[in-house]
Amino acid sequence: MTDDPSSILVIEDEGQLQRLLQTSLEAHGYRAVVVGSGREALLRITASFPDVVLLDLGLPDMDGVELVTRVRQWSDTPILIVSSRDREEDKIAALDQGANDYVTKPFSMGELLARIRATLRQRMKRDGGDILYRSAGLEFDSQRREVRRNGEIVRLSRKEYELLRYFVLNADRVMTHEPALKAVWGPAQAHETQYLRVFVGRLRQKLERDPAQPELLVTESGVGYRLRTLPTT
Ligand code: CA
Repeated sequence: MTDDPSSILVIEDEGQLQRLLQTSLEAHGYRAVVVGSGREALLRITASFPDVVLLDLGLPDMDGVELVTRVRQWSDTPILIVSSRDREEDKIAALDQGANDYVTKPFSMGELLARIRATLRQRMKRDGGDILYRSAGLEFDSQRREVRRNGEIVRLSRKEYELLRYFVLNADRVMTHEPALKAVWGPAQAHETQYLRVFVGRLRQKLERDPAQPELLVTESGVGYRLRTLPTT
């Protein structure tokens, strides 16, 4: 962490939640600005380049998914969706439009803060242009095109490697099925979700300590998958 606190733009129209988020984020050393509408949010993002945006999908003047689409036309500012459970479809749509992650309401502040930290880490990794990934006993070395588990080389097929590389590039971010399929198998296979199921299963067999209880490549129920970064102890 640097001395300069990360700035977070909170887009939320509910007063009680606005106050809770502002207070908690500031208590954890972030600079927080809260706005209550999509129109204000667009102005703010243009003017102040926040490090992370927290976005409630149900805004009074604009659909949250629409907001994500508009921001993504010119900015790669990380967007974390904060949404209620009954809007599952919207959540997936927002992720497909380029949102980085989501947290379901009601959420615990601890979970939200963890997601914010993961999003900031992801951003630093992107900025550094380094895609080497280390998590638990797993290492992904893009320079040497090698994957090692507890120091031993893991043999992966070409597609397994490409899929893992895709997850590594998007580590700690929830990935929906469609963009993953497009990236690895091409646009014509965008709906072949069984390919993903099979290949994620194979990667788990090769990479997880217990493939039946994955810790690294986890399922986000009804949405997709997430490759987690765990401490390397
Ligand atoms: Ca709302």
